[in-house]
Amino acid sequence: MHNPDVIDLTRMADPAPELFEKRKTVHNKRVSGPFRRFKWLMMIVTLTIYYGLPWIRWDRGPYAPDQAVLVDLAHRRFYMFGIEIWPQEFYFVAGLLIMAGIGLFLMTSAVGRAWCGYSCPQTVWTDLYQHIDRLIDGDRNARIRLDAAPWGLKKILRRAFKWMIYLVIAFWTGGAWIMYFADAPTLTRQFWAGDAAPVAYVTVAVLTATTFILGGFMREQVCIYMCPWPRIQSAMMDEKSLTVTYKDWRGEKRGSLKKAEKNPDEFGDCIDCMQCVAVCPTGIDIREGPQIGCITCALCIDACDSVMAEIGRPRGLIDYITLEDAEREKAGGKPRPAWKALLRPRTITYFMVWGGIGLAMLFALGARSHTGISAERDRNPPYMLMSDGSVRNAFTLKLRNMESRPRQMRVVLEGLPGASMWSDEIGRGAASRALTISVPADATRTARAYIIVPPNTPAQDFEFSVVSVDEQVEMAQTKAHFTAPGDD
Ligand code: SF4
Ligand code: SF4
Repeated sequence: MHNPDVIDLTRMADPAPELFEKRKTVHNKRVSGPFRRFKWLMMIVTLTIYYGLPWIRWDRGPYAPDQAVLVDLAHRRFYMFGIEIWPQEFYFVAGLLIMAGIGLFLMTSAVGRAWCGYSCPQTVWTDLYQHIDRLIDGDRNARIRLDAAPWGLKKILRRAFKWMIYLVIAFWTGGAWIMYFADAPTLTRQFWAGDAAPVAYVTVAVLTATTFILGGFMREQVCIYMCPWPRIQSAMMDEKSLTVTYKDWRGEKRGSLKKAEKNPDEFGDCIDCMQCVAVCPTGIDIREGPQIGCITCALCIDACDSVMAEIGRPRGLIDYITLEDAEREKAGGKPRPAWKALLRPRTITYFMVWGGIGLAMLFALGARSHTGISAERDRNPPYMLMSDGSVRNAFTLKLRNMESRPRQMRVVLEGLPGASMWSDEIGRGAASRALTISVPADATRTARAYIIVPPNTPAQDFEFSVVSVDEQVEMAQTKAHFTAPGDD
């Protein structure tokens, strides 16, 4: 029987294991080399695009906004340089999203998690914040020392200053996002004057908080625990995809340079200097094999190549290599240049699908009409029987002018013999088979059309066609149905 006075010492000596490993802060070391330079380049390009794009102007004439990239929610338009997407053309945006998806498939099957390593926003902002750490607190060893040091005035001030810089970057990031949804200079003035819409302040606050927390503090934990993309990518990669690999057949048995020099036959090329671990932004040891925490940024390649150069051994102990090539090299085969892994049926197929969708979208953009018409017949009453036996239907027309200038549009009845038409402006006295209506720039105009047919004309289908009265002579049609007594 259990005696509550007896303390179970075996349980005290062997506490239950913790479910989660405690996070070890990553203090990655500065490194230089071609992959680090490429990472710099990607950071500069992506951040410049993100922060700068809304400030680029694009002249679309006096009737349309002059911001090069703008999601105009109020008027339901998406502007991207010379392209203007209307709501009914959302398939272009869907096409762009599909292209982005296939582009990611292409990139993953060719170069593994290169997206994660170089251009994912989480990677870019984490990299930026890690540079801030280095700038304020020094390189790896200085940061480790500072972390371990007790809290004092100096440490508090240093931390406060650094977090202030984090906050400024986070605020700048949130602020840049809203600039895509309104005229950037106007919104900036309104924002600081307190006149912007509440949603703008809420969006900036949310994005500031998420950037500050995810980029400033959570960092590699987002990649390892929160982001689904590494899991999806693992499923998309195969033995022919390039990935960062430690060549254990060349590096093992690892041992210090001193030991290796004493017994060269016993030791491999890895001198266990831990430089590859010290520079890793996610703090992992690539020598333990491929793992979810590796974003394939290749900074460990730069670090190891420098070590190999110092000790006079060939570069590439850690390298971009496919699993297939790794097996071949392990078996004594000759190394194959990495670029050869890029060209294979799978990547070529992805590229062709990606390019095909792009070309189809370009063709559709070039061929699309900037004029449109839709017509809806009044349901109640469906028709009016006049005293002379003629029948009248009323329609609501929507005329679309996608040009950035006002245009005259001529609406013509196609079919429906003997019919004539008038509108609220023209009056029945001037009824004819065509109406000319002016439509403002970059807008859809609603107009009423009344159509009358001679007595005993049966119900039937017909078309409204619209032609722009200008040098473009653009046309569009829409089907309609004329109803009459006896129509089911
Ligand atoms: S940097 Fe190269 S030599 Fe140094 S521990 Fe890593 S793999 Fe070994
Ligand atoms: S192991 Fe190498 S490639 Fe992977 S995240 Fe670390 S530094 Fe980047």
